[in-house]
Order: sequence, then C-alpha cells, then structure tokens
Amino acid sequence: MSGSFVYSEKPIQIEGGEGPYLYDDAGNEYLDFGASYGVATVGHCHPEVVSAVQSQMEELTFVQASYPNAARDALYEKLAAVAPDGLENVWLCNSGTEANEAALKFARSATGNSKVVAAMQGFHGRTMGALSATWKSKYKQPFEPLAGDFEFVPYGDEEALAEAVDDETAAVLLEPIQGEGGVNPAPEDYLQVAREVTNQTGSALILDEIQTGLGRTGALWACEKRGVTPDLLTSAKGLGGGLPVGATLCADWIAEDAGPHGSTFSGGPVVSAAAEATLSIIAEENIPKDASEVGDHLQSKLRGSELPIRAVRGEGLLLGVEVKRGANRLLKRLAMDHGILALPAGRTVVRLLPPLVVEESHADEVVAALEAVLAEAKA
Ligand SMILES: *Cc1c(COP(=O)(O)O)cnc(C)c1O
Repeated sequence: MSGSFVYSEKPIQIEGGEGPYLYDDAGNEYLDFGASYGVATVGHCHPEVVSAVQSQMEELTFVQASYPNAARDALYEKLAAVAPDGLENVWLCNSGTEANEAALKFARSATGNSKVVAAMQGFHGRTMGALSATWKSKYKQPFEPLAGDFEFVPYGDEEALAEAVDDETAAVLLEPIQGEGGVNPAPEDYLQVAREVTNQTGSALILDEIQTGLGRTGALWACEKRGVTPDLLTSAKGLGGGLPVGATLCADWIAEDAGPHGSTFSGGPVVSAAAEATLSIIAEENIPKDASEVGDHLQSKLRGSELPIRAVRGEGLLLGVEVKRGANRLLKRLAMDHGILALPAGRTVVRLLPPLVVEESHADEVVAALEAVLAEAKA
C-alpha cells in the first residue's frame, strides 16, 4: 500500500494556492470553499505568513519549549491579548485533537475529578481522549476500548445538561456550533446554562473553538457572541495560517493545577511565527467583520433562492446546507463541473467553511453552482 491508505484520494491534484483559490497540476483554478478542512482562514499562501515563516526559518528552525524564544513569546503574548478575558494562560501544541487532549487533562487535574460530559453529534478529534469525547460511533467503534468516564447529552437540551453535571464532573466539553456533526448552532441560552451549571459544581467548561474560532462566526471567538467565557478554550485549524499549531487557553485556576504535560514540538519558532502573523492579519484586516457580512449575504442568498434544500444553518462563514439526498455526490459535481471545493458534515449536509477573505462575488458563485448541481440531481 502506498501513499495514504486513510484518505480516499480525490481526482484533482493540487499543487498551488493563493487567497481563496487552489490550482491543480494543469493550472485549473478551484475556489476552496472548505478552506482545506478549515485551515486556510486567511487564505492560502498569505504573503505575510510566508514571509514570517521564511525569516524565522533562516534564524532558527526549532528549539525546545523550555528555552525562552522571541517568536514563541510573541505568540504567547498575542494569544493572551486576543483571548477572552481571564484565559491568558497558553499551552501550544500541533493540532486540534492535542489541544483538546490537553484541555481534558488540565481539567481533570485541576478538579481532581474524571467525569466529562460531552454532546451527541459533537466532534473533538481522533486521539484516544478527544475521540472518547466525540459522538459518532463510526469513528470510535474499531478502536475500543477508549478512555473512560465520558457521558453524552443531547446537544442543546439545557435540562439534560444540568442533570448530567454534578459534583463529580471534571468538565463539560462543547462546540459553540457543532461543525462536523452537521453545523448545529447552540440554542440561544445553552452555553449560558453550561456556564452556570459548571460554576455551581466547580467543574470546568471547555469550549472547543477549533472550527468556530478565529473570526469565522463574525466574532473572534463564537463564545463572545453568547457572552460566555469558558475555563478552557481550544483553537487550531486556521491558527497557523497553514502550519500545524494548536492552542489551549486556560483560566488561572486551571493553569495553577494543570498537572505535568508536555510535547516535543510545543511552540516551535517557525509555527509560532506563522501563528503570530496569522493573528495579526485577522486583527488588521478586520476579518471577523467581513466573515459576518459575507456570511449574512451568503445565508440570505441561500434562503432566498429556489434551491430544493431542507435548511440552512450556521453563523458567519460556518454554514451548513441540508440537502435532500447524499451530499457527497453534489460535492463531487461542485468540484468537477464548477471548480468549487466544499466539505460534507454528515451524509446530507454540504458544509461551507471558506477562507475568511472571500467576497460576496465568491458567495454568489457558490450559490449559482449549487443551483446548477441541484437542478441536475433532480433531473
Ligand atoms: C477539526 C476539529 C478538531 C480536530 O482537529 P485536528 O487538528 O484534526 O486534530 C477538533 N474539534 C473540532 C471542533 C474540529 O472541527
């Protein structure tokens, strides 16, 4: 077996990228409306990210995290500056699942408890701990037994959540909007209730903002729109502008008793420089505001259209279009006939998760292409 035996390869060979576009080996252009699994938040090959990485590469490629380093310190400072108030303690790692692993470990250590309450349809990553907090049995069943003491409640059900959380609960782990699980925004007061019940029991509230964060929903963090500050917040995907970096932001009471943890590559200078540049771009280019405006435009176009769809859900540029039949066939036609790459979120949802630098004209292009492929599918 050669190459990847995990991913089913797509019949397009991508060799270049710029902004929201990808280019195949024949020079054909594709609009990357899935941002390559949500990574290309500031677009592909953003010149400021490229230049930050190039200069840092020449200075120092790597040094372990126990030696202070200016690039890493700059990222610590930047993350602390943009973190929700009170979450200025930063742990750096290499991916989303690792950011969640750390959050789970820190919460268990700081509370002395083990039980974690997570949500049905939730997705938190593929390593054993984060996988244990993930809902879909397809992802879990072949690898059991997983980590113990995880309990699932229906997402959005305030009473079920309040009932599940008790004095033995280490943490409640939730996405502010479920991404992979079908693009399901939390009902209005749900995160507030999660905050209240965890406060009452002394449990930690962990919000997984790996997909919702960095401006995608119209605020830098989706929890800010709900007026809720968790005890731990995880970020990854777009954080490194294309390079692998994840972060766990935590409150003082967590950081003070986080337990022993570490990772060889934590806060390497090159990924730190990339992430610092990415966060600067997000602030300077006012990206959350654009995501909100273009997202609203896209959402109203989708709703106003004659598209044979069941529902449109989401906020900003994290949108799910629920279709009547399998999403994968539509995604293939979007790619092959219209040069538009998007993602599924379950069997019947087309997930639109573009780079946050897209404009209304790109959104219009996607709606027109969806109209065409859906008309064809019906014929
Ligand atoms: C993608 C994702 C993860 C996992 O991130 P990886 O970098 O793939 O490990 C975790 N949580 C959410 C909400 C995600 O969207």
